[in-house]
Amino acid sequence: MARYVFITGGVVSSLGKGLASAALGALLQARGFSVRLRKLDPYLNVDPGTMSPFEHGEVFVTDDGAETDLDLGHYERFTGVSARKTDSVSSGRIYSNVLEKERRGDYLGKTIQVIPHVTNEIKDFLAVGEDEVDFMLCEIGGTVGDIEGLPFFEAIRQFAQDKPRGQCIFVHLTLLPYVTASGELKTKPTQHSVKELRSIGIAPDVLLLRSEHPIPDKEREKIALFCNVRKEAVIAAPDLKTIYEAPLAYHREGFDQAVLDAFGISPSPKPNLARWEDVMDRLTHAEGEVRVAIVGKYTQLEDAYKSIAEALTHGGMANRTRVKAEWIDAEIFEREDPSPYLQGFHAILVPGGFGERGTEGKIRAAQYAREKGIPYLGICLGMQMAVIEAARNLAHLTDAGSEEFDHEAGKKRFTPVVYHLKEWVQGNHVVERKHSDDKGGTMRLGAYTAALTPGSRVAEVYGAVEIEERHRHRYEVDIKYREQLETCGLSFSGMSPDGRLPEIVEIKDHPWFIGVQFHPELKSKPFAPHPLFADFVRAAVEVSRLV
Ligand code: GLN
Repeated sequence: MARYVFITGGVVSSLGKGLASAALGALLQARGFSVRLRKLDPYLNVDPGTMSPFEHGEVFVTDDGAETDLDLGHYERFTGVSARKTDSVSSGRIYSNVLEKERRGDYLGKTIQVIPHVTNEIKDFLAVGEDEVDFMLCEIGGTVGDIEGLPFFEAIRQFAQDKPRGQCIFVHLTLLPYVTASGELKTKPTQHSVKELRSIGIAPDVLLLRSEHPIPDKEREKIALFCNVRKEAVIAAPDLKTIYEAPLAYHREGFDQAVLDAFGISPSPKPNLARWEDVMDRLTHAEGEVRVAIVGKYTQLEDAYKSIAEALTHGGMANRTRVKAEWIDAEIFEREDPSPYLQGFHAILVPGGFGERGTEGKIRAAQYAREKGIPYLGICLGMQMAVIEAARNLAHLTDAGSEEFDHEAGKKRFTPVVYHLKEWVQGNHVVERKHSDDKGGTMRLGAYTAALTPGSRVAEVYGAVEIEERHRHRYEVDIKYREQLETCGLSFSGMSPDGRLPEIVEIKDHPWFIGVQFHPELKSKPFAPHPLFADFVRAAVEVSRLV
């Protein structure tokens, strides 16, 4: 049965609980243990699928088609363990399950209450797959004391109580602010945060402290004394130059050792950190730099394209080069010529997106890349833009567009080359969709297989003719136009196994022009860069050498 580590936060939000959890997962793996990471989010949205990327950052999609919090992306990037639907839950999902059961009569007429019904639902979620791994790491979103978080805190308290002694531990992450006037690190907020936690019955075993300065012994002792933890379990969480330094940095501070000690695992297996040493070596010993323009809509918040930014970094690591990604608002190209903006970039990426705003600008970016021979990677909407561009400018279908935008505008303006598909096959069954479906959870979601044309660039890049990648979209490129577009040079080099859904398009007579209907960025890892990103950056390096 798995040992459970619950990771909570206090004092302020955004201290990096997700990163700390992911790094701990990597460190436990380095000591030979198997791990799974989970996220419990206190907000009332049923899942993050309908939340604005401006507000919430990117929606991370799992192989089994769940739309989850971007922290699951961190977990995967650090551990390589594919997250599942059952690794992410929100209050909204918990309540909706409880209410559904109530309506169905499952509770046999009992009064439904937060304790035990909501807490039991949370505990059931925690227990899924508990026999599969050595360690289950569960991060609770938000900070202790938040009203929304209370049922989760109560549930983890009960869960630990239900298990044999020593099966569950609690890690609490807080902030040690530095007060310049007195030149001191202040421990009081941490004391209060731990007091809050203890008042609801949770005594932390390990404290992780974010601070801009090293923690002197005196403060460490004080925190240990006032917060009732062992001195060796007071761990500094230093500021990092790159997130990928986290496993090595946390290990140096003794985080994984403190966790193993808290479980009484002795002697603890020695860690093999070679994977992370190599990652850091590639990051710190990179030569040169390539500039990649990301032409998109959600450019104000970098987290909106978190996985793309990370996958580009990984692509750089594969080529031992630095990638400088710059975000450009696609709407600019609707008013102005893209040339002055895009000149000097070694590659152009158009990411996924929803809605018409900015799309004409993205189409112009695709056109610029095609005509100037600049490497182009179009992801999801970015592939659809490339197809519309080719249809308009190569195949002379001047009214080519997407049904998505006509639908949004409530009138027909385009001859859609991208249209809303009503049904398709997933595995062995047919999935049906209607325009009137709910917004949440109704897209083509999760992993689908694609068959690649032997001899195509993508088959060469992947070194395979069958791949599996993650999807999150409603609209598909219409194969009706395949022949016409292929005659003009845009080949459909990846298709669903039944040949109905275009998965990849590419232009042969171009240094590097690929559009993919899926999201390759979601599967890239620092220790295993995604082949498309690695080759895209390689092509960018080649361009940079020409200038
Ligand atoms: N809006 C497009 C669709 O739903 C593309 C989605 C995306 O880029 N993830 O098909």
